[in-house]
Amino acid sequence: MKFYKDHYDVIVIGGALAGLSSALMLADKGLSVLVLERHNLPGGIATSFVRGGIEIEAALHEMMSIGPEGNRLKVGKFLEDMGVNVDWLKVPEAYHASLPGIEVTLHPGLETFAREVDKEVPGTYEKVLKLLNLCHTVFDSVNELSIHPMSKPMMLLMHEAFVKTAGYSTAEVMDTFDLPQKARDLLAPYWIYVGSGFSDLPFTIFSVLMADYIGYGSYIPRKFSHEMSLKMAERAEEMGVQIEYRQHVEKILVKDGKVYGVRTARGDEIYADYVISAAYPNKVYTSMIEPLSEVPEKALKMVNGRRLSLTAFSVIMILDKPAEELGIKDYSIFRGDTMDTDELYRDLAGLGPYRYLTCICHNYGNPEATPEGTCSFSITTLPRVDGWKAVTADEYDAVKHRVAEQMIDDMSKYFGVQLRDHILEIVIETPMTVAHYTGMWNGCIYGYAHTMEDHIVARLQTAHEEKFIQGLEFAGAHQISGDGMGPAVTNGRKAAKNVLDDIKAKKEAAAK
Ligand SMILES: Cc1cc2nc3c(=O)[nH]c(=O)nc-3n(C[C@H](O)[C@H](O)[C@H](O)COP(=O)(O)OP(=O)(O)OC[C@H]3O[C@@H](n4cnc5c(N)ncnc54)[C@H](O)[C@@H]3O)c2cc1C
Repeated sequence: MKFYKDHYDVIVIGGALAGLSSALMLADKGLSVLVLERHNLPGGIATSFVRGGIEIEAALHEMMSIGPEGNRLKVGKFLEDMGVNVDWLKVPEAYHASLPGIEVTLHPGLETFAREVDKEVPGTYEKVLKLLNLCHTVFDSVNELSIHPMSKPMMLLMHEAFVKTAGYSTAEVMDTFDLPQKARDLLAPYWIYVGSGFSDLPFTIFSVLMADYIGYGSYIPRKFSHEMSLKMAERAEEMGVQIEYRQHVEKILVKDGKVYGVRTARGDEIYADYVISAAYPNKVYTSMIEPLSEVPEKALKMVNGRRLSLTAFSVIMILDKPAEELGIKDYSIFRGDTMDTDELYRDLAGLGPYRYLTCICHNYGNPEATPEGTCSFSITTLPRVDGWKAVTADEYDAVKHRVAEQMIDDMSKYFGVQLRDHILEIVIETPMTVAHYTGMWNGCIYGYAHTMEDHIVARLQTAHEEKFIQGLEFAGAHQISGDGMGPAVTNGRKAAKNVLDDIKAKKEAAAK
């Protein structure tokens, strides 16, 4: 029997969250889909691994856009609609902020959050709630406009707050609320999840982040992020998608400006009308398109013009005592020696010591995350790719251990417990690990930086100009919805929608 069909409607490169979302949506519409994944299992970064007999989450801190049962948000609803039934657990808090002069745990719910901030900074309730409500209004507009684009005059009429704030940075909009510095600091910790300092972070992005995470809370799958990937892959196969693992796509075949297939490292040439790529446009346009003469100059200009965002450095530990016995009291801790996000962003260009850490103890979200009498604790920072690109192979081991030790020492000092004395298992994930494991360009997990010059609103308007090769779509953090597991699903859906829209347009044109 032949391994591959003679022809597919769509080939998806990469069987992680974005690619699998594309595959699910296309199979749901009856298209023949082949997913080629270079690893021996699905999920990409949404995975887990086993050390000393204990399953350990590789990445996920918390997921946005899931929402409670019966009132799912867009990612939770999409998965349910596709028949992917993940066992979601709600994360118990927004975060514990450990900042100069601040030690407080804040909880989701716009009013709850504003009340808790008010307790720390009396007299701010009304203003904080007004700011959060503004975020929520903008968030609703973004959700609606991403599905139903409309003319500018209509937008102004129906989405006034979105239009009025779209051209401003987070810092500029926050200034208009005239909040005391401490209240501003308490609103800032999630900034690292989108990776730009507030003077360069579009308020639209900040709004989506705050309205989703603070408004609805965040979720994790009971059996780690790999539960989601595995269930997505399983469901896709039930729906007729062919998934082949250990198949690295080396080339995307193009003729006369149009995609016609791919070639794998094994040498198979497989044909399709459309290709959806998880690989970064940087990689695709510089080495994967065959022949490279099919890559228009404009495509290279686009990738060179965009700034890569953040990568990840994470120390993941299994400790030999329950969390509370080690002084770990929260699911999520954001700890920094300042909350000046612009300063912290500049600092992320280096190789540490990093001044802003995000820590997770999964046991508070899922008491069964590790065997009884133990706990998991991870310390993560999200550096810019620049600094790590310069590390040579000879230096790598020393730099990796120095940075990990600094992070462990910092948190040990904070808890008043020497964490090193309690480590049962430890794994250090570096930007190189991410690059090696997923093939992501420079290990960049965040795609292209959202800045005031290049952000979601502008990208939505120019998306049609960035279709350089017919039939080629992209799905991953490098696309419009940006980074994160929830946005990966949305990016995958968008790529599938582009394919479906194109097929529909061609059918309509042929019928005329
Ligand atoms: C330490 C860490 C912590 C994180 N924490 C969170 C969090 O708390 N919340 C959150 O929402 N997000 C988090 N993220 C980010 C999130 O994991 C990613 O944004 C998301 O999972 C990306 O999914 P993806 O499908 O776009 O790509 P990836 O997971 O990067 O997958 C790409 C896939 O494509 C495959 N592939 C690539 N090239 C080829 C090729 N040429 N041929 C075949 N296959 C190929 C790869 O093998 C991989 O499976 C974290 C990431 C890290 C590293």
